[in-house]
Amino acid sequence: MRIKYRLGLVYKIILFKLGFGKLLLKDRYGERILVYHGIDEVGETKYNSRFISKVFFEEFIKYITTHYNVISLDDFYQKKFKKDTLNIAITFDDGYLNNYTYAVPILEKYKVPACFYITTIHEKAPYLWADFLDLVSYHTEKEEIIFERNLYKKSAKREFIWNGISMKNVAKALPYEVLKLIYEVFEDDWKALPPKDVEDYWKLMNAKQIKEIADNPLFTIGAHGETHASLVDIPLEAAKREILTSKQQLETICKQPITEFAFPFGYYTNELAEYCHEIGFERLLLVDYNTKEDAKNETSQNRFVMNPYISMEQQLACLLKGSYF
Ligand SMILES: [Zn+2]
Repeated sequence: MRIKYRLGLVYKIILFKLGFGKLLLKDRYGERILVYHGIDEVGETKYNSRFISKVFFEEFIKYITTHYNVISLDDFYQKKFKKDTLNIAITFDDGYLNNYTYAVPILEKYKVPACFYITTIHEKAPYLWADFLDLVSYHTEKEEIIFERNLYKKSAKREFIWNGISMKNVAKALPYEVLKLIYEVFEDDWKALPPKDVEDYWKLMNAKQIKEIADNPLFTIGAHGETHASLVDIPLEAAKREILTSKQQLETICKQPITEFAFPFGYYTNELAEYCHEIGFERLLLVDYNTKEDAKNETSQNRFVMNPYISMEQQLACLLKGSYF
């Protein structure tokens, strides 16, 4: 798979270099919803693969607004598409402060609409547990730790592993009352983090910043769960509470109805999707459909995750194809 992926990318680069990129891509137009997570100064990938540099982000936005049809999610859902081009809507997941600091001014400059799906964990903790784990695992000198009576050992990739499973994978299925005990295990490591230069990788927007985005006619706020648990792995009642609470908290902050929900990790079940509709969510944002049948449901849309490892041309080629493979 990896080799096929690399060869595919090399082939695309050569075609672009020779000026044939457009020919290759011509019949691959259609519609895509992009999903970004964080924007930072440099596109750092040592902590995880969620951050794109602000320079690359601006270059990309400039390119797609020049060459394609960039539209709001409202227009996307109403199928206000142009023919013979790529129709693109832009979304951000998680609610990072860096969205507010770096992405919003660029989106405003090019008048690009976007939706921001916010995890309301900021009311419980100042960070998302996944970012906490990424940062402390990278910087700690600990080689092993005990969590829930299991011994986790640090791997060469600086992940804590027990029984072949990474701590992050264990964490996403835990109820928050248990999960938050991880903060104590790494408390000293968190305090020892280099202060300013890692803030882009964990700071979340506060209520005032979220409200400011909600009030901007270019932008929309949607919900993304309360603690970023994997909703298909925690008990059903807890999952429903996560969905409902994130909606209510954001409605209090934004003083407007919140009608869009993006599933954390893109994981969903039909039962959860139904519950979302019951409580007033009109649009559900996924990553991949579970089944071909789900693709026929027009309230749910899959999204294309942006990749920090590849060049602009490679990114465009994959985007037009609608896949990295
Ligand atoms: Zn997320």
